[in-house]
Amino acid sequence: MKVYRIPMVPGPTSVSREVLEAGMVNYGSADLEGDYVELYAATTGMLAEAMGTKGDVVLQTGEGMLALWGAMKSCLRAGDRVLALSTGLFGYGMGCMAESIGCEVRTVGFGFDETLSDFGLIEEAVREFRPKMITMVQNETPSGTMNPVEEVGRLKEKYGVPLLYVDAVSGIGGSDVRVDEWGVDLCLGGTQKCLSAPASMAFLSVSGRAWEVAEEVGYAGYDALLPFRTAVRDAYFPYTPYWQGTAQLHRACELLLEEGVGKAAERHRRVAEYCRGRVTEMGLRLYPAPGAVPSPTVTAVVVPDHMDWKTLDGRLRAEGVVMGGNYGCLEGEVFRIGHMGTQANMNLVKEAMDVLEEVIRK
Ligand SMILES: *Cc1c(COP(=O)(O)O)cnc(C)c1O
Repeated sequence: MKVYRIPMVPGPTSVSREVLEAGMVNYGSADLEGDYVELYAATTGMLAEAMGTKGDVVLQTGEGMLALWGAMKSCLRAGDRVLALSTGLFGYGMGCMAESIGCEVRTVGFGFDETLSDFGLIEEAVREFRPKMITMVQNETPSGTMNPVEEVGRLKEKYGVPLLYVDAVSGIGGSDVRVDEWGVDLCLGGTQKCLSAPASMAFLSVSGRAWEVAEEVGYAGYDALLPFRTAVRDAYFPYTPYWQGTAQLHRACELLLEEGVGKAAERHRRVAEYCRGRVTEMGLRLYPAPGAVPSPTVTAVVVPDHMDWKTLDGRLRAEGVVMGGNYGCLEGEVFRIGHMGTQANMNLVKEAMDVLEEVIRK
């Protein structure tokens, strides 16, 4: 197994020793003991603070995708109308997920290198289609872009759309997320991006409205949200909770709140700006189109003409640097520098940029 000196992958991000060690403990039976319930409540409380909500946060064993699926299946039935605002792989993917549940999906789509714009067009779609749920991605990781949620939240309120579903998996902990202020009903998160905990837990905020809808739908399944509504009150979980993983996430949340959510977002913003500056200076092209909002947690760069991704990746790895490739139509075309969580570190990114500059000159 190879170990890299300079990890720059946009998730899973490198986990600090202290977060790892927080999980190196043997406990009693997580589904029976009051200590676990306290740990769960404290952890979800800190996550709520990181997401800007006074409402409920649910924590499940799994990864980000689990929250995406669980929230959708818990709140949608076949035939429900879903408006998928899409600017990238995850945004379009959500439309496909809703279709697989049998929903009637309308997509308002933009280029993968764009962010949501033309709110007149979006408003028209909301007014005309009357969706039960609007889906969108706050931080589109494969594209290195960040979408505005606030404007969509306003449209949701204006037209009385029941649910706004936002994937903020790679934004929470590294950007300003304001669930209550923006009117988000289901805000999806994961541990292995900006929180830099192991890829073991998924979490999401659930608004009062979303709980009502979940009660109405009554979905039962391994990924169902409903059992978590009363988990703390009744000290009862639908399956054995992952005590060590929760303890690691708890430590990661403490570190985030000790720094301050606003300060952490500022750190990410500064590092991202530096990264984009260096990439541009060395003659590479940023993937996001002019006018699109670049992400503060991940920078997407076009693979240079004179070198294919495999070669570039190999040369970076030989120097101890590992960056992210891409998926789907971006595979081989766009690579990514994940400056999120522990990797939103100016010295680390500077080292990575020095290596990248040298490698593309060869
Ligand atoms: C990482 C990520 C997810 C979750 O994917 P996992 O494979 O479960 O980690 C979802 N959405 C976005 C935008 C992501 O970056």
